[in-house]
Amino acid sequence: MGPKCQKGEFAMETKRVLVNGAGGFIAGHMVKRLKAEGHWVRAVDLKPHEFAKPPADEFILGDLRDQQLVGDIVEGIDEVYQFAADMGGAGYIFTGEHDAQVMHNSATINLNTLHYGVKAGVKKFFYSSSACMYPEYNQLDPSNPKCSEDSAYPAAPDSEYGWEKLFSERLYLAHMRNCDVQVRIARFHNIFGPEGTWCGGREKAPAALCRKVAEAEDGGEIEIWGDGEQTRSFLYIDECTDGVRRLMDSECAEPLNIGSEEMVTINQLAWMIMDIAGKRLEIRHIPGPLGVRGRNSDNRLIAERLGWKPSRPLREGLTKTYAWISEQVRAARTAEVATIA
Ligand code: NAD
Repeated sequence: MGPKCQKGEFAMETKRVLVNGAGGFIAGHMVKRLKAEGHWVRAVDLKPHEFAKPPADEFILGDLRDQQLVGDIVEGIDEVYQFAADMGGAGYIFTGEHDAQVMHNSATINLNTLHYGVKAGVKKFFYSSSACMYPEYNQLDPSNPKCSEDSAYPAAPDSEYGWEKLFSERLYLAHMRNCDVQVRIARFHNIFGPEGTWCGGREKAPAALCRKVAEAEDGGEIEIWGDGEQTRSFLYIDECTDGVRRLMDSECAEPLNIGSEEMVTINQLAWMIMDIAGKRLEIRHIPGPLGVRGRNSDNRLIAERLGWKPSRPLREGLTKTYAWISEQVRAARTAEVATIA
């Protein structure tokens, strides 16, 4: 372990940290956060980051399903932040077309990370679970969904993605009980922000809607899957990474929601983005994969355990995200025009 240092609200020791999935959205931001705090960071992903260069001390391109690779990269590591998963938005995880792949790939990553991490003497693991593990029967009423941490059982997630998250939560907790390691688990509720996937089929609702609004001409229309009355809450990335660091440094070993409590319908989300963009657009509702009817974060437990909960308004994060995505749309158009010319 490195020397003690003091940074912001975190009295901490600098550590050697492994961040899995650092070519992706949340982990890419997490690397920045950990480096800003002074830690030494080894990052790993199948692919480089598409939109940023996470400032890791080492960035290893490799497959976390590969036991040999995982055995090597956990050497000398104090703490692991495990974000790698085969995942995407509703268009990827709720169609049923990728179920076998999602379960196999993500479970293998978690099995390898824990098995070889424990063997190498890693002391603490962070695991990124999802609100998708909550039972569907509590999320049928869009205006009154139930997602308190103690409502996870009897289990009935509405997707195989959710079932894998639940299995892996249990896998981490079992290793904590039997293998003398510490585990911290967050159940994320729709994290969004700049430097995340915004096109290609794996993007999630806020990014997809920002893209559609940015691409549309004023007075035109955008498409939304379903009637748009399904509810969700969305958490901006900076509060997510803040919550993860607070959870990691806490004594709280039970899974906690990390999400916003500002619940909106998908129509309301779209209107908010149009307002930010200064465009008036019609919404055309079309059939598509939807997920549960209603979902909202329940932040009573995190407030009690950590003395903190996310509090920033949705509009603030959406404004920053729309600015970034509209710039990506503009750059993509310019590149397209240059190719044709
Ligand atoms: P992301 O898809 O941007 O990042 C995941 C990264 O994992 C990708 O870069 C991918 O290449 C990498 N990966 C996948 N398989 C791999 C493998 N075999 N070896 C190495 N790397 C591999 O996703 P994200 O939005 O940043 O999500 C991070 C984590 O948080 C995931 O576990 C996800 O399930 C969880 N989560 C995210 C949200 C959200 O709203 N973004 C919500 C709930 C849970």
